[in-house]
Parts: sequence; C-alpha cells; structure tokens
Amino acid sequence: YNFCKNLPKIELHAHLNGSLSASILQKLGCSSEDILGYQKLTQQVFAQEKRLQECFSLFKIAHNSTNNRKAVYEATKYVVEEFRADNVIYLELRTTPRREENMTKIDYIEAVVKGIQDAQEGIITKLLLSIDRGHDLKTSEESMDAIIKMKKKYPSIIKGVDFCGNPNVGSFNCSLFKQARDNGLFVTLHCAEVKNNSEVDQILRFEPDRIGHGTFIHPKYGGFQEGWTLYKQKIIPLECCLTSNVLCGTVQCYKEHHLQEWIKNSLPFSLCTDDKGVFGISLSKELALAKKYFELSREHLWKITYDTVDYSFASNEEKKTLKEILEKWKLKNL
Ligand code: IMP
Repeated sequence: YNFCKNLPKIELHAHLNGSLSASILQKLGCSSEDILGYQKLTQQVFAQEKRLQECFSLFKIAHNSTNNRKAVYEATKYVVEEFRADNVIYLELRTTPRREENMTKIDYIEAVVKGIQDAQEGIITKLLLSIDRGHDLKTSEESMDAIIKMKKKYPSIIKGVDFCGNPNVGSFNCSLFKQARDNGLFVTLHCAEVKNNSEVDQILRFEPDRIGHGTFIHPKYGGFQEGWTLYKQKIIPLECCLTSNVLCGTVQCYKEHHLQEWIKNSLPFSLCTDDKGVFGISLSKELALAKKYFELSREHLWKITYDTVDYSFASNEEKKTLKEILEKWKLKNL
C-alpha cells in the first residue's frame, strides 16, 4: 500500500457527487442523520448486498448536500484536495450539470470550474460533463447546449463529456454525442456495466475516446463474441473500477474481475475509483487491490500509471510534464 500511496497517480474516472467522503458531507453541513444514513448504506453495500440500486440511492444524499452554488463549489474543492492528498497528480473529475431552485446548469458548471481553479496546488484537474442516461432527450439536449457553451468559455478545463447514470434505464443517443465530438469535446461512455449487447455494439461503433467499466463485453462475462471481437479491433482504453464493480455486484469478486482479460490480451486500461465516497476507497487502495489480485509487480503498476497519461484528455504539453514526473519518480523509487 505504501508504494501505491507514494506513486504519483492519474485518476480518469471519478464522479463528483460519488466522491464526497463523510468528512466532506459534514463540512457541507449535511445533517448527522443523513451522514449516518450514508454510512449505513455504504456498510450495507460493503456487507455484500451487491445491489446496483442501493449504490444509486446513495447519490441522493450527496445531491441533497450540493443543491446550491456555494456547496457545489466547496464540494469540488474538497474532493480535488482529497485526491491530491492521496498523491493524485492528474484528475479528470466528471459531474452531471444540475438545475436546482436557485441554480441553473450554467451556474452549476461555473461553480465546479471555480472549485477546480481554486484547488490547483500540486494537481492538474480537468472537467468532464456527464449526460445522465435516465434523463429525457429534451433535458439531455439542454445539458449539451450548456456544456458546449461552457467548453468555449473554459477550454483548458472542460475537456470532455461522459454518458452515465443507472445502466438499467435509458439508451445511448449517438447524435447527441456526435454533437459533442464535433464541438471539440472528448467522449467517454459508460459501456456494458450491465448486459446490453446491442448498446455495446452501438457504443463501440461510435468509437469513443474511452469507455467506463466494460464488464459485459467479453463472452466469459455475459457479453457476446462479436462484441469482444469488435472491441479488440477498435482497442479503446478502459476505465477500470474494481471495487465499484465488486460492490455493485456486476462482477463476482476481485479475482474474477474482467480486468484479467485486458491484462492477458495487453489491452489498454487505467485503474480508477468511480465513487470514492460511496465505496469508501482511494486510488491508492485500488492500485493495491490490483497488485494483490492480479499479481502485478511494482514496475507493472508504474507502467499502468505511465500509460494512463496517454489515455487522458490532457494537452500534449501536460502529458509531457506528467510523464517527466513519473520518470523522475521511477529513477528514485524503483
Ligand atoms: P454527479 O454526476 O457528480 O452528480 O455524480 C453522481 C452521479 O454519477 C450519479 O447520480 C450517477 O448518475 C453517476 N454515476 C456514479 N457512479 C456510476 C456508475 O458506476 N455507473 C453509472 N453512473 C454512475
């Protein structure tokens, strides 16, 4: 674990409201009753209840405590600071723009950007804006308009769009994400978190820059041969969230995680937290778990991190800087 903690890390898949630790919720003024509820649910998830639905209900508590601009700003700042404290040097934070009573989607995005700008010490943070698959087309189109507008205003921070939400509802809208791509945004899509062969096919043919989870692609994990063959043709980097998948019950256990297919076939992947608050984890812990269950050497963990720089949406100059930091660290520590 110490090695994983010390290693300068790259995080590519972290949802803002899923990353709020109990201590952040407390700082945001969340009632102790709600925090207890949050922890209780987290424990239930840990107690192997393994229900995707339960995980999703936890977001409601986080959302209630970030329902105004000030709280969104503070939550962002605290989350970035917690990642920094875990030695994450590059973070791509993602969040779904939300309209609340006293906050438009534009206000929401502005508050997150401000939080990122005010927590720049020792960490580069980029923002990906999410489209929730549970929202109707009109809502998603509105969000996309706001996202494109804000990308023009903050081009060095807002880098891409994401497609997330409860995987059991909604469907992938190709033209919406084409619009994002045409406007210079990178695209990462949650894909195959549950079995949905036709959507996997659609998503892979769209050729996003990255995919999240990717559980039900390989036939051994309930996917289909054509899907896996297509994936191997396209070779799209995978954002792998070990603990999230185990606790949500979409994979059996760490040892049986589909990551092993990526390792075996030398396919590109990065290790990510997904929702560090909900799952009570850190990126260091995720690296340590990967090391343990897939018998990875220290060099291999370093290389996974180093290669992750290439899958990021950072500028070429930023990638060069990140690689230099990692190379220097290797000389001293490996
Ligand atoms: P937010 O976008 O900052 O509000 O972060 C919480 C949201 O992220 C949730 O409401 C979900 O829509 C999304 N999310 C978090 N984890 C997952 C996941 O594992 N699969 C799909 N969506 C997720």
